[in-house]
Amino acid sequence: MQYKHQYIDGVAADLPVGKVVCVGRNYADHAAELNNPIPTTPMLFIKPSTAVVPMAESFTVPVDFGSVHFETEMAILIGQPLKNATHDEIEAAIAGVGVGLDLTLREVQGKLKEQGYPWEKAKGFDGSCPLSAFLEPSVAGDLQDQHIRLTVNGQVRQDGNSSLMLNKVYPLIAYMSHYFTLLPGDVVLTGTPAGVGAVNPGDKLLVELGDKLRVATQAI
Ligand code: ZN
Repeated sequence: MQYKHQYIDGVAADLPVGKVVCVGRNYADHAAELNNPIPTTPMLFIKPSTAVVPMAESFTVPVDFGSVHFETEMAILIGQPLKNATHDEIEAAIAGVGVGLDLTLREVQGKLKEQGYPWEKAKGFDGSCPLSAFLEPSVAGDLQDQHIRLTVNGQVRQDGNSSLMLNKVYPLIAYMSHYFTLLPGDVVLTGTPAGVGAVNPGDKLLVELGDKLRVATQAI
């Protein structure tokens, strides 16, 4: 299914689908579960636009590259260009708040890390970023008090809150914009809380952001 940015009422966001700028290890409990040190500056990576697919109803997980892990993350839709952005510019540019899955080929990533190679194959493959529809920012409310929850086959697997982010949303976006101009239609993924694990074809997922955004979907 072709992905287009839209709001939860089904209204199109009228923005192209761009790149997805992501941050690794933005929650201390997640860094600890993978035995990773906490970075001293935000650790950034990018998924290309070809990674983005709709989250709702179903999404495909590859079966040829070892285990695929889910990472449930608050997603920020960018509506205006941001370069060396100030707080006010970021506030004006946020066009939506949603949730994304940062799907990760965990064994591939492990090998790349060992060799000191970039992570693109593990993080940026086709379909590696299922995205929800977005809430209007005014509806979403405080970005640093969002409950992020993933239930897989009826079991709660991830249950975090954006208050625990190491790099908060505004400073994170400002930092990203020093390196990568954010364009209308780009999305920022803000890191995953603890509880990541494998997702397999047939798994039924419920992805929630607070009590305002609920996406029921299935891995195929
Ligand atoms: Zn992630």
